[in-house]
Amino acid sequence: MKIKTLVKSLGLGAIAAAALLTAGCNKECDTAGAQQAAAQEQQSFKWKLVTSWPKNFPGLGTAPERFADMVNEMSAGRLTVKVYGAGELVPALQVFDAVSQGTAEMGHSGAYYWKGKTPASQFFTSVPFGLTAQEMHGWIQYGGGQQLWEEVYAPFNILPMPGGNTGVQMGGWFNKEINSVDDLKGLKMRIPGLGGEVLKRAGGTPVTLPGGEIFTSLQTGAIDATEWVGPYNDLAFGLYKVAKHYYYPGWHEPGSMMEFTINKPAFERLPKDLQAIVRVAAQAINQDMLNEYTTRNHAALVELKEKHGVDVRAFPQDVLNKLKVLSDEVVTEVSASDELTKKVYESFKNYREQVKAYHEVSEQAYINARD
Ligand code: CA
Repeated sequence: MKIKTLVKSLGLGAIAAAALLTAGCNKECDTAGAQQAAAQEQQSFKWKLVTSWPKNFPGLGTAPERFADMVNEMSAGRLTVKVYGAGELVPALQVFDAVSQGTAEMGHSGAYYWKGKTPASQFFTSVPFGLTAQEMHGWIQYGGGQQLWEEVYAPFNILPMPGGNTGVQMGGWFNKEINSVDDLKGLKMRIPGLGGEVLKRAGGTPVTLPGGEIFTSLQTGAIDATEWVGPYNDLAFGLYKVAKHYYYPGWHEPGSMMEFTINKPAFERLPKDLQAIVRVAAQAINQDMLNEYTTRNHAALVELKEKHGVDVRAFPQDVLNKLKVLSDEVVTEVSASDELTKKVYESFKNYREQVKAYHEVSEQAYINARD
């Protein structure tokens, strides 16, 4: 048995471990390195994780809590993560700054909220008429997306990791019927990111509001419509109480990926094994959230319809066609913001074309066949 393994299996303390490692060293052995490694294995870290969601909000808020539990357990308490809801340590839309400056070591949010910092960030949540959850995860993990994302966040001292996916969202809650493109004119709607820009070109007024302010804004008439996530989350906010019509599909967010943001110097201070734990836990949560939404969204939709009498309806095809034309315009224009955004867009666009062709004969063909 190797000495290091023996040390671990015996659960020896730092001093005893270092002594044993020193005693076992031969000429090739780096005593100082071994002592350092043993000391690091005993060192513990306490991290703060700030989020853009109400504390423990279903799905979005419980994902970082699960992440924290997982990291705590896998590291045997050497890395403990304390999760803060929106406004507890910093406001919902200051998560990025807090992590960038090191006020918190980690954040959980959506990249598209940071379009004012860097336009390229918008490609890392969801793009109108863009990738589904499955496709997004493919692009990030195997299609070059992760490397580009790290490049986009590098000037901010932030390391990003996928942090969950809601799947295809709903089109949103409206206080009037949308029967034609003209009905979007003058519509004041809470819709962030590129979807908001598309609405603007269709004649509407997009508003960005954190989740916690949506219900009241809709209730007081400050906004006429809102998108949020999907049945599971929209039910939790009680949006059916303040809007009449629930439209689908969420053309603007076909597979919204959340993000974990990590302060880079804080990450680099962790020993390698704790870094690996953070990476693996983030990846597990990314899949876990999608699985949860897949299961709970349809149950919540049944409840909205049957218990609360919600009017669920599809956007008319000509409205979707118009939104698609405008979306392509907006996304192409955003891609010209700077060289890096262009590079991200090219990668994203190529991946979408390839995966779309494949999914026509796989996912899409199968779902059509099953129906
Ligand atoms: Ca949304």
